[in-house]
Amino acid sequence: MGTDGATMWRPVLQWLEMSGDIKMRRAIGSHGTVHGVDGLQQRHDAAQTLPALFCDSAGCAAPLIFVPARPRPKTDPAYPAPMPGYFALDKGAAHVTGCRYNVAGHLAEVLDAAAASDPAFVQRLEDGRHELRLLALHQGLKRGGGALPEQQMRLLSTLLVLRAMCGNDALLADRVVLRLGKKKLAWDAFFHDPARYDEAWARLDAASNEVPMALLGTVRSHRSPPPGTGAGATYLNCAPKYQKTGVMDRREFYEVSVGHDDAAWLQRFPVGAEIVMFGLWRQGNSHTSTRPHPTDPRRSITNVTHKLALRPGSPGQLAVVA
Ligand SMILES: [Zn+2]
Repeated sequence: MGTDGATMWRPVLQWLEMSGDIKMRRAIGSHGTVHGVDGLQQRHDAAQTLPALFCDSAGCAAPLIFVPARPRPKTDPAYPAPMPGYFALDKGAAHVTGCRYNVAGHLAEVLDAAAASDPAFVQRLEDGRHELRLLALHQGLKRGGGALPEQQMRLLSTLLVLRAMCGNDALLADRVVLRLGKKKLAWDAFFHDPARYDEAWARLDAASNEVPMALLGTVRSHRSPPPGTGAGATYLNCAPKYQKTGVMDRREFYEVSVGHDDAAWLQRFPVGAEIVMFGLWRQGNSHTSTRPHPTDPRRSITNVTHKLALRPGSPGQLAVVA
């Protein structure tokens, strides 16, 4: 198959699997205490001794290390913010077979099971990859309502969570081909993390809202209509992407929100949760506001806010990563 994607990625993947490059957000200490990234970062910053840390997946307990947050790499302008801290496997350690962080193992398992139970949706290709046929899901999304094939939705949502856990497209792009009718969908056109909200927004601008996409986000707020005003949608808003424009005093924001009439359902994704959102996205109206510069009366600051909006028809379109 020459130098196509699968071959090109192989050395990267071998390294990924060997190093267990899954960035974990939680760990447990030797006394069973659960440690999050923020608490460990504070202890790290205060130069305190860190506890021994272990994988929090049931029955695993692989030894972990804490990798503290780093400033944005100067060579990588695509990173919008400092790189957050995370937990990684200690040198030589490995997750047990059934561990939730054994993403490559879990991925192979769910793909094999799906190919056996629903070959119209998942087909094993001759080169060992699996093809995911998204056309029926896509048509269900266009019809709206509860018309989505539920089992397919569940598998897709599992894959999206695994992709989110990986931190990049390498593993999924190596194992899963996305097909929408006659067209193939590249993973980087399908899945967008917050650093690439602007690209997701531009895709909607360039094409149409017919393209299914998955966005990763962190829940920042829920906004319900004021009581007494009758029915209306509640909005779940994610932390936006902020982007410098290269133009002085002009800043751009990319905001992601999910609207639904069932406020209780959206509330099940609490503030701070990392979630994947899948469906037919559309652009909301962009909004420009100007205010005086805080210290220089000759200048004013312009904020441009771009919106990405989703109105899911099925509960499977949102899933929690961590
Ligand atoms: Zn583990």
